[in-house]
Amino acid sequence: MGVSDKSYKMLIDGKWVESGSGATVEVLDPSKGRPIERVPSATIDDVRSAIDAAKSSFNSGVWSRAPPAERANALLRVASLLEADAQHFADLETLNAGKTIKQTTTYDLPYTVDNIRYIAGMARRLDGDAMAEYVPGGTSAIRREPIGVVGVITPWNYPLMMVVWRAFPALATGNSVVIKPASYTPLTTIRLGSLLLKSGIPDGVFNIVTGPGSLVGEELAKNNGVDMIAFTGSTEVGARLSELASPTTKKVSLELGGKAPFIVLADADLEASAQGAVVGGLVNNGQDCANSTRYYVEGSVLEKFQKALVEKLQSVKVGDPLDPSSDMGPLISAQHRERVLGFIKKGQEEGGSLVMGGRTPKIAGHEGGFFLEPTLIYTENHDSTIIKDEIFGPVFSVFKISSLDEAIQRGNDVIYGLGASVWTKDITKAMKAVRDLRFGTVWVNDHVPVPSEMPWAGYKQSGHGASLSRFSLDEYTYIKHVYFDLTGAVRKSWHYSVFGQKD
Ligand code: NAD
Repeated sequence: MGVSDKSYKMLIDGKWVESGSGATVEVLDPSKGRPIERVPSATIDDVRSAIDAAKSSFNSGVWSRAPPAERANALLRVASLLEADAQHFADLETLNAGKTIKQTTTYDLPYTVDNIRYIAGMARRLDGDAMAEYVPGGTSAIRREPIGVVGVITPWNYPLMMVVWRAFPALATGNSVVIKPASYTPLTTIRLGSLLLKSGIPDGVFNIVTGPGSLVGEELAKNNGVDMIAFTGSTEVGARLSELASPTTKKVSLELGGKAPFIVLADADLEASAQGAVVGGLVNNGQDCANSTRYYVEGSVLEKFQKALVEKLQSVKVGDPLDPSSDMGPLISAQHRERVLGFIKKGQEEGGSLVMGGRTPKIAGHEGGFFLEPTLIYTENHDSTIIKDEIFGPVFSVFKISSLDEAIQRGNDVIYGLGASVWTKDITKAMKAVRDLRFGTVWVNDHVPVPSEMPWAGYKQSGHGASLSRFSLDEYTYIKHVYFDLTGAVRKSWHYSVFGQKD
């Protein structure tokens, strides 16, 4: 069974299906603002069928009790199939999400394949304490067991990668999953489904249901058959899902928004920091949860840094994302671009000065696309919305600071805590920033890299739990303590504290 490029369906219990109502929704190319595909719009019954299929596959033990090596090998087969089809996936991701082809071919695809290989390897090495006699006369051991049915809800900014970050550690540890991809970007998730089928993963273990978050996502959060929600997306929707999941007390793992500070101290290599700022701010068209967004620059180097940054931003090529020479494609939707433009306006109304950008370029052949120029606003108002809220667009806010202490205090003064960077040659200052910045990742003299072996996790309202690294597998397992009596005695030495007297 497979899925052709002309027929994107849902995957339930190993079968490609339409919505029970026959309804479909349009999927757009954001670089043209034109429809490219239609996918099913699920009914509540479709979601429930997927949950039932996941539950019965889990209960059958065919995957959940398979030896770790069997699960690892199946995931490794997916990695190889994905690697072999990487160009097609990269093209499709670029077409559907507007990411540049440069990024999808050289970063998203090879990195996602590496993520899968790492996760597959870790399926065979789950952590626990050594089996030992922690109580005299008894041996204790730990088992790690899958949680059950995991509802995975993903965002549109890394459609394929976020499925892998969330669903693959769940699969590696023996869970069954129901995935709801973002409504804007379901295509690579569906194509990935065909690779999982080819890899021999049993029917019902990996299900895909497409449709609106308010219906599909909410049903996953509420339904008693779902044991855990793994959500990557905005802080607002994450909070809503926690609320919906609370009556069934299901586990909710949240990876949410970010608002990364980028601290440039007076002794930093200004050329390297300006270069790092462009890349940190514009990766994924400025729609990355780790994008550097707030530039805290020491007063003595502010002018020089900003000049270097503006010069570099002026040479950024905004254009057709399928053109390998484009540095930046469109934003995901007309509505999202309006929201970002609203922030640019607000930033100025709240005292900021527009240094560059703010316009919506027309790209030949892509007149309907949702493009926006890289935009830089200098502000001295730290309460400004552009400093405090996640914009999720190519908007740089520059703010003058007088010391590292001030930068750390201001850097921490947001609700988010995902990624942060500090640029300095002074090791003492770097280590102080590493210690005091309340963020899940702190980069020193770089911004963006996260190897598969290291955790990606939020502090504060950026969520909790971890993707990547060995910690990501912990997310999807229960820890079971098993205790073996070694004495064989009817009356154990400690029984007197409940019943009878001490011998
Ligand atoms: P979003 O919260 O709008 O949507 C995420 C997913 O939730 C989508 O599949 C959407 O359809 C679904 N959804 C929407 N409303 C829902 C509801 N009421 N109930 C259930 N599901 C619902 O986020 P987005 O706009 O797709 O993605 C951008 C956000 O994701 C940003 O905030 C970004 O920082 C965050 N993000 C975080 C990470 C991370 O690792 N922390 C990674 C990528 C993106």
